[in-house]
Amino acid sequence: MASVFPDTLLRLLLERLDAEPAPVLSGVEVVRYPAAELDRILELRLLTEIGQLQELGPCECGADGCWQTVHRAEGKLWAVCPNASLPPRPITEDEVRQFRIEVPTFHQCLRETNRLDGDAITEFTRTTCFLGQVAVSGRKVPILLVRCLTVRSAERTLFEIRGRLPDRPLILLTPTPRTLDLHTIHHLKADGLVIAPLTELLESADAMALNRQKMESLLRPASATPARSATLRLDIGRAVCEFRNATVRLAKTPFDVLVLLAKEAQAGPGWVSRDRIFEACWREDWQKGEPPNEEQITKMVSEVRKALRIAGMISTEEARALVQSKSKTGYRLDLGPQEISLV
Ligand SMILES: [Zn+2]
Repeated sequence: MASVFPDTLLRLLLERLDAEPAPVLSGVEVVRYPAAELDRILELRLLTEIGQLQELGPCECGADGCWQTVHRAEGKLWAVCPNASLPPRPITEDEVRQFRIEVPTFHQCLRETNRLDGDAITEFTRTTCFLGQVAVSGRKVPILLVRCLTVRSAERTLFEIRGRLPDRPLILLTPTPRTLDLHTIHHLKADGLVIAPLTELLESADAMALNRQKMESLLRPASATPARSATLRLDIGRAVCEFRNATVRLAKTPFDVLVLLAKEAQAGPGWVSRDRIFEACWREDWQKGEPPNEEQITKMVSEVRKALRIAGMISTEEARALVQSKSKTGYRLDLGPQEISLV
């Protein structure tokens, strides 16, 4: 599906939109593109020319804190060293021009061009904006623009969105393709969110119309891929864990605790004593005959609960019911053997 998005001014804007705040463009960057394209983008008000630069940046004289200032003299522009260590250098008008990316206009333009309807444009966060909804294959699907999406921000973004738009398929537009790990993508997909970069979904490289066919193919039910029945998947060799198709982030010791609980749950509805956890996870201390570190064991189990809660998007109570504890007995993972896959 990857296609080469031609080098247009719109592409430059999309690239810049994936930063927060979206940086100002300099005249030099903008005049590389055909004047007609710049005119059209200014007309759409996706860009606004703002006041000219008064300072150009660190001075070439190399003195600490010396910044070149801009002066107009003899009908020309000059970069001037305030320390007068260097002679004034002639510069072009383009070097001092500045253009601001109008993010709200971007949102509006996407909504209007694609005739999105439904609730008004709403900014959920500074980088996540609800644009409206689109009719795809006979159903209404909300569309959002998510800027600066990263592996780190994905979880939070998902929470923000689901707080307002629960349980529906959604299209998340990102300005440019984002490098997300497969687990994050799986996680978002499992939750009915489809991520599509604008550079792949736009009909052309200089307009904001979205390609309907591509949107429809994105939203086609995932029935083509075989359902994965295991709820908890543990790859012991690679120390990778997934719960409900989302990555469970665990350090080594809590991971080992979870493996122990999973093995026991797979064998039957048994309990794992604190002594056994100590023996398996603090082997050296156990061999030395030291007593179990009760506090550490409790802490590791609560880390397992927390990680499963975050990955599975379940409540604290549900996590407590999933990893049960009984005093003087130990811990038990409340999953059937068919819900666990151990590799
Ligand atoms: Zn200087």
